[in-house]
Amino acid sequence: MKRGRNAILLACLAGTVATRVFTAPPGWGSAGISDPVPAVALSISVSAGTPAQGDPLIVDVAATGPVDNLVLLWKGTAWPLREVAAGRYEGLVGVDLLAPAIPETLVAEGWSGGKRIRADAVLAVVARRFPVQEISLPKRMADFDAPTLKRIREEARAMEERFARVTMPVLWRMPFLPPVEEFRPENFGSRRVINGEERSPHAAVDVRLPEGTPVRSIAGGTVVFAGEQFFGGRSVVIDHGGGVFSTYYHLREIAVPEGRPVRRGETIGAVGATGRATGPHLHFGVRVPGGRVDPSLLFALPGR
Ligand SMILES: [Zn+2]
Repeated sequence: MKRGRNAILLACLAGTVATRVFTAPPGWGSAGISDPVPAVALSISVSAGTPAQGDPLIVDVAATGPVDNLVLLWKGTAWPLREVAAGRYEGLVGVDLLAPAIPETLVAEGWSGGKRIRADAVLAVVARRFPVQEISLPKRMADFDAPTLKRIREEARAMEERFARVTMPVLWRMPFLPPVEEFRPENFGSRRVINGEERSPHAAVDVRLPEGTPVRSIAGGTVVFAGEQFFGGRSVVIDHGGGVFSTYYHLREIAVPEGRPVRRGETIGAVGATGRATGPHLHFGVRVPGGRVDPSLLFALPGR
């Protein structure tokens, strides 16, 4: 389905505290009672009004005056916005590849003159068709022994803990840079059925490349993991701030230590086939507020 990616102005509300009547900006239908304090109005626009499962979304918020503690409310959590100009704010959220295809409300909320102000946008999430990969494997390759299972679960839990941290400042900037020069992504969201049993979907893309191809960071950030995993092999995870992370797996070697700040475009490792990989390729994933999104769409977002 073709979806409009132009910014759509979805809603503009001000002064939603229950006991107040909101003050309409000039030209709006009058609410009848005027507020003694001029209300600051917020407006919100999103890069897609009908996003599909796995879509990242750029959010622009504008305020007609000073706002304190401005956040985006999405999927039950408050996420930071970055001020890009006076009264203009930018955020990045997304629809997880397994999120239900239902309408969801994205809210910008802040405080002005002791009052809470909000603007919201209703996003009609649509289903996306993902390829299904039926794979037959010898039993010893499809099943893991108890110590291996324990390791897999611990690594997954530790990774989820990293992704749960919302750090400041927000270090990503538009536009993001593809992680390799020849970026030909495949397999996002593939539902893998191994020996008739459904496994977790492929929440990243694979890019087939010669071993040793340099891999670079898609944006500024901090290395929050640089080490070995059972599935991912030599892996790097970068925290770009504000709940945005990028992951790079199966590396032949890692060029950055854990804890190091990295710049956009800085080499962080080289393509390999470490971990559970059948040949040299980069497994590249992106996590944004809301979940796991299609990394290839990140580079197609409207830039600034
Ligand atoms: Zn992969």
